[in-house]
Amino acid sequence: MYDLIVIGGGPGGYEAAARAGALGKKVLLIEEQTLGGTCLHAGCIPTKTWLKTAHLLAALKKTPELTGTVALDFAGLQTRQKQIVAQLTAGIAAMLKKARVETVHASAKIVAPNQVEANGETFAAANILIAAGGQPARPPLAALTLDSAETLNLSALPASLVVLGGGVIGLELASFFHAVGVPVTIIEMTKQIGGALDGEIAKRLLLALKKSGINFYLESKVEKVEADGDVRKVTFTHADGLHTVEAATVLAALGRTPRVAGLGLDEVGVAYDRHGVKTDDAGRTNIAGIWACGDVTGRCLLAHAATREGLIAVENMFGGDARMRYDAMPAAVYTAPEVAMVGATEEQLKAAATPYQKITTPLAVAGRYAIEFPDETGVLKILLAPDTRQILGAHILGGNGGEWIHSLAMMMTWQIPADRLNAVIFPHPTIAEALAKLRVES
Ligand SMILES: Cc1cc2nc3c(=O)[nH]c(=O)nc-3n(C[C@H](O)[C@H](O)[C@H](O)COP(=O)(O)OP(=O)(O)OC[C@H]3O[C@@H](n4cnc5c(N)ncnc54)[C@H](O)[C@@H]3O)c2cc1C
Repeated sequence: MYDLIVIGGGPGGYEAAARAGALGKKVLLIEEQTLGGTCLHAGCIPTKTWLKTAHLLAALKKTPELTGTVALDFAGLQTRQKQIVAQLTAGIAAMLKKARVETVHASAKIVAPNQVEANGETFAAANILIAAGGQPARPPLAALTLDSAETLNLSALPASLVVLGGGVIGLELASFFHAVGVPVTIIEMTKQIGGALDGEIAKRLLLALKKSGINFYLESKVEKVEADGDVRKVTFTHADGLHTVEAATVLAALGRTPRVAGLGLDEVGVAYDRHGVKTDDAGRTNIAGIWACGDVTGRCLLAHAATREGLIAVENMFGGDARMRYDAMPAAVYTAPEVAMVGATEEQLKAAATPYQKITTPLAVAGRYAIEFPDETGVLKILLAPDTRQILGAHILGGNGGEWIHSLAMMMTWQIPADRLNAVIFPHPTIAEALAKLRVES
């Protein structure tokens, strides 16, 4: 009898399993593919490896004092990406071994509230954590397209690319292909790119991406994708009628769906809907002893959210009383310029009729930003509670904001008023010095 069986070895599942193992619990982790999940094999890590190279290439081209030509070796990039993934996969295996977590490579199915079947064997546990993740949404019109995972497996750059969907995944992959010289068009149904980004930041990002040469069609509904020999024709409706664009490859980045099929949820009565397995903020499902975390719940499709949800569930299943907080969840979009955010957007505050004060400063106030991002016009924007000076939301466009948004997440997590920033000494020159220049009044 195990204390915990974890289904899925992504960032939700493997961190939860390792934590329970470190607590001395008897843990079994069942993964049907490779340890690391979407994040490591078809998400965060491969895309960020690609984007690092692309941003470097773009920066070199824009540095006039560096002469000569630099070209992308795409096969070499794929090799390096696979090496990084292999290294990190081995790290996860070592972490699980150290925590004495047993692992089985098989597809798992819950057959009773405390029983899981895998590889024809039945395993019993006091607790089951569903961490089965998600997969790309594939509506019928996506038949002649590649999804993000297939795109990451390309062996050669496409001659041209149309991206269906201007959400985070579409924008990041579009940014890569554009930076390495592939003509890119993005077709997005709504009038804003980047999904739930703050509206003002999304507008500025759109301007920057357009200026860099990516084509956009917003408020455009894709009707069909057809093959004409090797070419794909995408037909979409825009305000002024039907349009067609052609490309060698079409990427469908149309959202993600939870991997609920085959888990035995209906059989044991675990509640779920099209967004995923329903959980409370403690990580519980409606069935005692069955917990869920990560993309399979559909609550927050980020690797670090999956990890935290898994850790919260582990704490609660072994006697704790922890609750998941989503109000200080940071996120980053690794486009050029990069976007980072934590907390509420202006739109959310307006919709909730929450009073707020907005303070914005250009990142160019920081010397290092001027050095490192000479052609960007990034901003730092914070939204404050007028009475307590606490941060309700913070948004950074540009300047590797993903690397320093956590300082604002920390302030939000511990409810530190923003004027306390005035007492902090920032090293010079750093981009985060923009925080020092905010000079929030007490
Ligand atoms: C292109 C792309 C880029 C991304 N970039 C970022 C980023 O930069 N930052 C970020 O925070 N997030 C990013 N994400 C999102 C991130 O990958 C996910 O939020 C994260 O992987 C979710 O973790 P998880 O553990 O819930 O699920 P997953 O990582 O999907 O892992 C689930 C695991 O469960 C296994 N599994 C499923 N069903 C079963 C079963 N029945 N039996 C056994 N095993 C099973 C799967 O094989 C998989 O390994 C990106 C996603 C994509 C697609």
